Amino acid sequence: MKFSIHDKEKLLELFEKNNIKKFRYSQIENAIYKNFITDFDKIETIPKDLRQLLKDNCFFSSLEVVEQATSSNWQTTKILFKTKSWDLIESVIMRHLTWRNTLCVSCQAWCPMWCTFCATWKLWLKRNLEFYEIFDQTMYAAKILNEEGSFLRNIVYMGMGEPMLNYENVKKSILLASEQKKLDLSNRRITISTCWIVPWIKKFTNDFSQTSLAVSLHAPNDEIRKKLMPVDETYPLKDLMQVLDQYTKKTNKRIFYEYIMINWVNDNIKLAYELWELLQWKLAHVNFIPYNPWEWTNSDGFSPTPRFIIEKFQKILENFWVVSTIRATMWDDINAACWQLAEKKVKKVD
Ligand code: SAH
Repeated sequence: MKFSIHDKEKLLELFEKNNIKKFRYSQIENAIYKNFITDFDKIETIPKDLRQLLKDNCFFSSLEVVEQATSSNWQTTKILFKTKSWDLIESVIMRHLTWRNTLCVSCQAWCPMWCTFCATWKLWLKRNLEFYEIFDQTMYAAKILNEEGSFLRNIVYMGMGEPMLNYENVKKSILLASEQKKLDLSNRRITISTCWIVPWIKKFTNDFSQTSLAVSLHAPNDEIRKKLMPVDETYPLKDLMQVLDQYTKKTNKRIFYEYIMINWVNDNIKLAYELWELLQWKLAHVNFIPYNPWEWTNSDGFSPTPRFIIEKFQKILENFWVVSTIRATMWDDINAACWQLAEKKVKKVD
């Protein structure tokens, strides 16, 4: 069975079995991660028989592109991939000004968290992605950006799936991206977005003290949060805030709190004060996300909060020194955020 070229352990095993000198690995690394070569025949720095050995035993990517769409303003490219086991997953490249190119990756096919506003859970959880399936999304985007004369600067684990439930593979994929001889992405430029951090906090703090942490909050009290996120039944806000305090104490890092704004659901102005109370004195940055409607929205009755209300929330937090931003919606004309292409395809297949 062929294995991923990004699987260093297996590759070095193959080298040993075939008496290949270890320095060849650096040459391959250079070709793949610095020059973005994706064809074994084109790695000219290594002998022909080694190229053949690689061809016989490895594959460059486990993913095949099913669909790719770029927004008319060129800011966003959504890619729908098919894994070798025919699971559909998605990534989104966001080209910000000032070179802050960001990739949003998926870590599961699809998700078991059941957040009511999100399209992914309607697809259930099929399986965890392997580390190389996650990293292949990154390599694909890095190559595209390289061809555009640009580069990948940030990765956010905000696509399909819950990163903490696929911890080891997510960890390995982050290590690959941050290795100096690979993509050399500083850990601070990698963000994990999670709603399942409570049981993982110790491990996460030890393993990822430099990685940025974004927490899906979405409501400042359990009553509303429970309705949006069943995870709140298992880990209510009290537990969540307690472990996050531990994290801040240890790392002194600011936590990003994601707050999706849904009309009439979690945008009553009194909640802005509750949010302030919850986050006051904390190293917090609130990221308001205008609710992104998707195909079955109507059945849930959700719609986005008007911009002026989100701005009111911001003002209230600002008065009390809580920093916040409103996430720009960049993908309007190519059918939305990280999960909607797949959702459409799956529905069609079904
Ligand atoms: N499971 C992880 C990461 C995936 S979701 C988590 O819970 O954080 C990434 C972010 O997108 C989360 O904050 C999620 O709540 C948000 N999101 C999901 N559906 C959305 C929608 N329809 N509109 C806007 N944001 C959404």
